[in-house]
Amino acid sequence: MGWGAFAQRFMLSSGIVHLVGAGPGDLGLVTFRARELVSSADVLVYDYLVHPELVKWIKPGCEVFYVGKKAGSHTVPQEEIEALLVSHAQAGKKVVRLKGGDPFIFGRGGEEARTLAKAGVAFEIVPGVTAAIAAGAYAGIPLTFRNVSTSLVLLTGHEDPNKTGGSQVDWRSYGALKNATLAIYMGMGRLEFILAELQAGGLAADTPAAVVQWASLGRQRSVSASVADLPARVAEAGLAAPAIIFIGEVVRDHEAIDWFEKLPLFGRRIAITRTRDQNSELREKLETLGAEVLELPLITISKDVDKYGFVEILAELGTYDWIVFTSANGVRYFFEDFLKGFKDIRSLGLLRFACIGRATAREIESYHLRVECMPDTATGASLADALVETGSLDSAKIIVVTGNLNRDKLVKKLEAARAIVDRMQIYKTEKTDLSDDPVADDFRQHGADAILFASSSAADSFAAQASSLELAESAKEPLVGSIGEQTGESLVEHGMSPDLIAAKPSLDSLIEALIARVKD
Ligand code: SAH
Repeated sequence: MGWGAFAQRFMLSSGIVHLVGAGPGDLGLVTFRARELVSSADVLVYDYLVHPELVKWIKPGCEVFYVGKKAGSHTVPQEEIEALLVSHAQAGKKVVRLKGGDPFIFGRGGEEARTLAKAGVAFEIVPGVTAAIAAGAYAGIPLTFRNVSTSLVLLTGHEDPNKTGGSQVDWRSYGALKNATLAIYMGMGRLEFILAELQAGGLAADTPAAVVQWASLGRQRSVSASVADLPARVAEAGLAAPAIIFIGEVVRDHEAIDWFEKLPLFGRRIAITRTRDQNSELREKLETLGAEVLELPLITISKDVDKYGFVEILAELGTYDWIVFTSANGVRYFFEDFLKGFKDIRSLGLLRFACIGRATAREIESYHLRVECMPDTATGASLADALVETGSLDSAKIIVVTGNLNRDKLVKKLEAARAIVDRMQIYKTEKTDLSDDPVADDFRQHGADAILFASSSAADSFAAQASSLELAESAKEPLVGSIGEQTGESLVEHGMSPDLIAAKPSLDSLIEALIARVKD
């Protein structure tokens, strides 16, 4: 490499393009490297089939371009995508080009890399879990098997429409392969043609075959049948793209090995409200049980420190007895600013910590500070009760760290117990604009099997957004689930009566109630 090329490749100021595989859909299958790159990108260019949640990892100020298919509009032409990558990299930007699955498997990653190389732009390729590998795993189809299948062939059923002179894929020769597993991408539009050609090449009509749609996601569906019966079964089940078609003896084990589609919440669409920090925990638990989770981003929380009040309280920190946190964001933002002013955690003095919610407690404990008071139920009122029970409130001075929505119930109760309360506003909560949000849109169009509320504030913010979440006529009306009596009461206040209530106020108990209900 000459000095010019070397400098271009390694100079910190020059831009770079990362061609990154985003995996088949499930967020857990995204690589660490991909996540790291998405969260440090200046420019993100992404496709259809990339999980919308992934796009939320970007840093503030990152420019985002969607270049995939969208109902009613055309895909951005390939040359334009490539020009976009080149121009931003040449402007010194760190560009992340995210593609479904693996960038080098039917993803035109090769073309993009070639253009970048030609333009002298530095680039990196990050592999991803390709759809066929994911579909095999999640449908219980081992892609190779000792003595049964000794090779795996990845094929595309979609061919360049500009090429004339018949099919580029010599289907008949693949039909003659022995001991092989065929995995066909983009083949659903020509399923019958492909199967007929394979059979003309010698594939037996009774060879086992399967189609797996939306592999690895909660909405995964699959059918298996002999090659002869597959088209009819697929039509009956209404399966379409995106799907992988598998052909080969390995499919025979599918029923026995299938694990994902047997999970208790498999095939269920569960909406949850993204209002609290514990939410990713709820999402994870539901997804582990096979559900498709729609996380409605109802509110946006951002740091908003009332500087005057903050400084005033910190100046007298030594005179306070308790500091009360009601969210993990509050803890994070508080320490961010506290540690700007003080270099030593001991400047907190003998301040005692109280909080609601396990996620909040975890955040406090991450600073090696003990939480001395946390009620079982995550509400402001029960926190006040728990504090009163410590017997230490008479003329105690308490800092309540809040957002712009005042914690009136909590503060009033504490004051009634003769405490001296100072509010410290650290963040603000705003309604998210849902008009263009893809998850909200999915909910409006198709509804869900259930919607779960893990707190009263979740119920409140859902009600506040009700007009932006009206269901289409054909959408499925969800069952309403509540984590406890209190949240249930809030729901009733907003005109939604819960169909299921957790026996105990915990996420596990809420999920148990849901499973019991959907089993019926
Ligand atoms: N680069 C991608 C493939 C892009 S081509 C990869 O490595 O996976 C698009 C095709 O991939 C779809 O038509 C479908 O055949 C397949 N595909 C992508 N995601 C899929 C999924 N979650 N389940 C089943 N097939 C999928």
